[in-house]
Amino acid sequence: MPASTGQCLYVATSLSDAVAALADRGPAGAPLAGATWIMRAPIRREERRSSYVGIGGIAELCAVELTDDEIRIGACVTHARLIAALAGAEGCDGLVAAAGGAANPAVRQMATVGGNLCASDFPASDLSPALLCLDASVELRTPGGRERMPVGRLLDVRCTLEPGTLVTGVVIARKSLRTGHARLPLRKAGDYPVAIVSMAAALGSDGLVEDIKVAVGSVEASARRWPQLEEQLLGRPLDPARAHELAKAGAGVFAGRESVEAPGWYRVQVLPTLVRRAAQAALAG
Ligand SMILES: Cc1cc2nc3c(=O)[nH]c(=O)nc-3n(C[C@H](O)[C@H](O)[C@H](O)COP(=O)(O)OP(=O)(O)OC[C@H]3O[C@@H](n4cnc5c(N)ncnc54)[C@H](O)[C@@H]3O)c2cc1C
Repeated sequence: MPASTGQCLYVATSLSDAVAALADRGPAGAPLAGATWIMRAPIRREERRSSYVGIGGIAELCAVELTDDEIRIGACVTHARLIAALAGAEGCDGLVAAAGGAANPAVRQMATVGGNLCASDFPASDLSPALLCLDASVELRTPGGRERMPVGRLLDVRCTLEPGTLVTGVVIARKSLRTGHARLPLRKAGDYPVAIVSMAAALGSDGLVEDIKVAVGSVEASARRWPQLEEQLLGRPLDPARAHELAKAGAGVFAGRESVEAPGWYRVQVLPTLVRRAAQAALAG
């Protein structure tokens, strides 16, 4: 940070160093990962903290580990690194598409998984709906110790996390899933998406949907699952045209948010098309 801003940056060298530095700073401090969200605080007319703890160089937060049972993604893994690490991994097509479609190449080199999930009041996160569909959990270090919670819970509480809390990683249980991610930016690249639909389906040997999760991002203040649609898709083949019709009939469960980029009604109106595209992507994977 430039000295003229009156802010200071401490670069942590290990996880325990970061936890201690954040505890010292209390409410005056916050983690700084890729800084792509923090650097734009003035554009959003938000106050910056007086002190930041740099966590982007901590090796244990920058690893992606794949075992037969689970995938563990360190909080400081960038979008670009995530794409490289998970390309071709079973069940990860949707997550890779989410990371690959977000922002632009320069931002993807810097922006981290933890920063994306922890950017409060950010409705247009691509990773959130993709991780909701995968039933992912987040691991945290809090002043009281370690904690684990579902991604959906983190999205609910991220604005009120206790000072000193650090997300350390995301954990996904490995399952045989077909996944797809569809997003609608207003222009081709670089925009926040108007709406996002992510889908993860488990198909039986007869091709019928045994389990399915659908999550919607950017339409409301925070990404969330679409349980009514999930229930209607169960027990039948995953048919993109039928999914589109069901989504058209049921999209009224969402109350689209108004913003300068797009009106709320439009965000809801595009959902059936995105559901169809997400289902097509899942079947193609
Ligand atoms: C031009 C542009 C276009 C974009 N388009 C998209 C898009 O299409 N889709 C999309 O999903 N995103 C988009 N983004 C947002 C981008 O993905 C986020 O800015 C980024 O993911 C934030 O990650 P970061 O590492 O830079 O976080 P930082 O800016 O470092 O931090 C963001 C917030 O999270 C907190 N934080 C960071 N890491 C942790 C942690 N481990 N534990 C606890 N708190 C933490 C920080 O204190 C801060 O409050 C765009 C951004 C830009 C600049």
